[in-house]
Amino acid sequence: MKKIALFPGSFDPFTKGHQDIVQRGLNIFDKVIISIGHNTSKKNRYFDLDLMVGKIEDLYKDNPNVKVVIYNELTSSLAKKHQANFLLRGLRNTTDFEYENTISQMNRYLNEELETVFLITSPQFAAISSTIIREVHRYGGDVKEFLPYEI
Ligand code: ADP
Repeated sequence: MKKIALFPGSFDPFTKGHQDIVQRGLNIFDKVIISIGHNTSKKNRYFDLDLMVGKIEDLYKDNPNVKVVIYNELTSSLAKKHQANFLLRGLRNTTDFEYENTISQMNRYLNEELETVFLITSPQFAAISSTIIREVHRYGGDVKEFLPYEI
């Protein structure tokens, strides 16, 4: 059976930290599906969704094992739809752990075939968060060092 992993998140924006998790995920899984959670009733993104999808697709255009999808449903249901048996998540610190622990327990309850696999951040990306990048960008700061594409 092929090992297919969903990598769910907001990716607002997709950072070099996310790219590192995808790259390392590809050493474990046959396919990684970057799944951008988007609630259509809430236009609450900072970076435009279509822009972000385009940037990520462009990054992986030569890799048939990476796919990008937008979703507005339970991650556990999306996994069934794509025959994904793994969720891929990154862990930076204990705050991430607390949050991920509860989500992971719930996802397992909702879909018991779904196993969450956590990769600890690479040290050079440990301080990168989408939140801080949004804040810096909002006030005109330069964020290009943290993103794997031009914005
Ligand atoms: P969410 O909005 O669900 O927190 P994000 O888009 O911020 O999702 O992140 C998706 C996943 O990537 C999460 O598992 C998060 O912990 C992980 N992640 C984010 N930034 C990094 C990083 N710098 N290094 C490793 N993992 C990261």
